[in-house]
Amino acid sequence: MSKLDNNTNEINEFDIAIIGGGSAGISLASQLNDCSVVVLEPRTPAERDCSWALWADSHQVEKFAAVTKGSWQQWRLIDHQTEVCHYSDQYRYTSLSSAQYMTQCESKLSKGVDLIRAPAEDVLASGNGGSFSAAGKHYRAAQLYDSRPPKMADNSLRQHFLGWEIRTKYPINEPEIATLMDFRVDQSRGLHFIYALPFSDRRLLIESTMISNHLEDKDWYRQAITEWLHEQNIEIEESLSEETGVIPMHKIKPVDKDIASIGAASGAVRLSSGYAFTGIQAQVTQLAERISVGQYAVPSPISSILIRLDEIFNRVLMAQPELAVSLMMGTAKALDANGFARFMLGSATIIDWAKVIMAMPKVPFLKQVFHS
Ligand SMILES: Cc1cc2nc3c(=O)[nH]c(=O)nc-3n(C[C@H](O)[C@H](O)[C@H](O)COP(=O)(O)OP(=O)(O)OC[C@H]3O[C@@H](n4cnc5c(N)ncnc54)[C@H](O)[C@@H]3O)c2cc1C
Repeated sequence: MSKLDNNTNEINEFDIAIIGGGSAGISLASQLNDCSVVVLEPRTPAERDCSWALWADSHQVEKFAAVTKGSWQQWRLIDHQTEVCHYSDQYRYTSLSSAQYMTQCESKLSKGVDLIRAPAEDVLASGNGGSFSAAGKHYRAAQLYDSRPPKMADNSLRQHFLGWEIRTKYPINEPEIATLMDFRVDQSRGLHFIYALPFSDRRLLIESTMISNHLEDKDWYRQAITEWLHEQNIEIEESLSEETGVIPMHKIKPVDKDIASIGAASGAVRLSSGYAFTGIQAQVTQLAERISVGQYAVPSPISSILIRLDEIFNRVLMAQPELAVSLMMGTAKALDANGFARFMLGSATIIDWAKVIMAMPKVPFLKQVFHS
């Protein structure tokens, strides 16, 4: 049972402690019943708001409806030569408000779950559990899960971006299509594309996204967005918000290897795309089911074969960056909409894989396979 009191010397005991109440931590906590749980999260959902996107099937479209900012059956990738536009009858590319999603999870926490709005400090692992302090109190749990974001190595391959949400002066063209990658931008510093989600015909999220080893100054991304808007003849009536993000595209080390990690810290981010939401959902749902029957091991979020294939893909990108745009466009051209969604979700069929492999230049990939 949980024991929360004002005596700072007393230890508050819980069955489970979850360090970090972000995507993984709060999703897991919201699915736990019949045990005492404490979640440590220093930030409110509003303080860390951003957009989380996924390819949602009909079940997920319904599940996330209340926190969805936009949802598209059509998406496109564009370079100077071609535009590949997909129309899916099975998946909707769906963008969620992370703040609304986390608020919804917080509102679903069962009675046995305490959310402490403070960082966990002096975390000490002991067996599967451990102890820590937060906001001047001491805690101990039989089982610890850690989702603190690990440090990313400088000079490592990362996806980094800056985005604006804007209201446009005039209605934009084709608000029913999400632009996932528009490569018609400066490619001199790494793989660079514009990501544009029309939440309505007057409301747009535009991100300048890079895949490279070096982060750029914020003004560099802002300039790219400004130029792209100019090219599209889109004028800003009001700037609503700005978000930035850095996502690892290499294997990361958890903050503490002796504690079971969940979410991005456990390797849930697809190394080739930076998408993690769907993998995290699957991981924590399976973990909550295990916990309900007294099993506490964290499921792997991504299969080892997929990690290996993503690593090879990234090594080709690093070794021959001049191929990057054609690799992305080639993948989109090789697959139909549903195959592309499956591929991005990490659930591609053998036929999807065969189509992608056939479309790829063989020598650069074989070189990286044999160099590893
Ligand atoms: C800006 C951004 C946009 C993204 N967009 C997408 C997307 O569109 N689609 C997608 O699939 N993936 C996306 N990702 C990747 C991934 O889904 C997210 O990073 C996701 O938040 C990872 O979830 P997580 O729970 O592992 O980590 P987080 O959500 O980062 O949660 C970790 C939490 O730990 C907390 N914390 C840190 N230190 C402590 C401490 N000492 N004690 C307690 N708590 C602590 C932090 O405040 C944080 O809330 C995005 C990532 C970023 C950064």
